[in-house]
Amino acid sequence: PQLINRIAAGEVIERPTSVIKELIENSLDAKATEIHVTVRGGGQTLIRIQDNGCGMIKEDLKLSVQRHTTSKLSHADLWNIHTFGFRGEALASITSVSKALLSSKTLNQPHGWSLYIEGGEQQDFKPVACDVGTCIEIRDLFFATPARLKFLRSPAQEHIQITNCLERFLLLNPHVTFSLRLDEKHKVFDAASLEGRIKQLLNLQAAEGFWLETQIHDVKVTGWAALPGAHRRNADRIFLYTNQRPIEDRMLVQSMRIAYQDLIPKDRYPCVIAFLSIPYSDVDVNVHPAKTQVRFKAPQEIRSVLITALRKSLIQYGQ
Ligand code: ADP
Ligand code: MG
Repeated sequence: PQLINRIAAGEVIERPTSVIKELIENSLDAKATEIHVTVRGGGQTLIRIQDNGCGMIKEDLKLSVQRHTTSKLSHADLWNIHTFGFRGEALASITSVSKALLSSKTLNQPHGWSLYIEGGEQQDFKPVACDVGTCIEIRDLFFATPARLKFLRSPAQEHIQITNCLERFLLLNPHVTFSLRLDEKHKVFDAASLEGRIKQLLNLQAAEGFWLETQIHDVKVTGWAALPGAHRRNADRIFLYTNQRPIEDRMLVQSMRIAYQDLIPKDRYPCVIAFLSIPYSDVDVNVHPAKTQVRFKAPQEIRSVLITALRKSLIQYGQ
């Protein structure tokens, strides 16, 4: 089974940021309102995610690192039904290629339990004193699959990806406090509204941009975009979501750049946060196990909703 887990790890866990993404998703699923992320050495030395979610009882903690064990099939989250093949694999995969210490406590337990697992082999299981919630520490990521190590970039580059990943979650979940410690740097995102998060993350006032809201047929976009010139960095900041999940999509990003450039000088870089809501039957999320890439049934329609939303506001600005 370790071999299977490691093969699965190769697919789902490409690099340190994949670990962060999976663990943050788990913390959010556990209804955490605080998620603290610590990373050292680009994530290869240490990744720690501490949450104040529902925690796990002893038996569930043991089960959590086994393949295809998920506690999440009961609530019929449509997205998850579509990605069923990839459910219940993240912790099994991550713990098969690292040295992991999991500790967890639920509200009703007098104390928590901790599980140490190295290269997928369970080593130690014992009671611990800890707060309600879950803490997962991953050390020596990919020690068990040395070939993977060669694909890691420098710690600085891995840190950029990890930061990008966390940024996507913190804009989507303003009701959750996030903190990120990258080696010695520490940042807290605790504003409780999207407006506040825009200030904390992008250093822009909501008034330096405009709110987006457009619907065409059953495709809807909401979000926020900076006014031309407000975002003074010379790189775009584009945050795209589909049905409450961060996604990547080059075509849509490119369209947004063009929408800006059509109306304003070329030296401006767009800064856009766009939440797309699309019927589940019109998106295929099974393109990649990490689920950041999706395939739209009608990509041109999605594109035109997004562009319409931007143009509507940008044109007002131009007048
Ligand atoms: P999945 O999230 O697809 O169910 P995972 O391998 O990511 O699969 O997690 C396995 C199980 O471990 C989850 O279904 C959940 O029951 C439990 N779990 C993992 N992380 C947490 C957490 N932070 N808090 C509470 N339970 C967790
Ligand atoms: Mg998960």
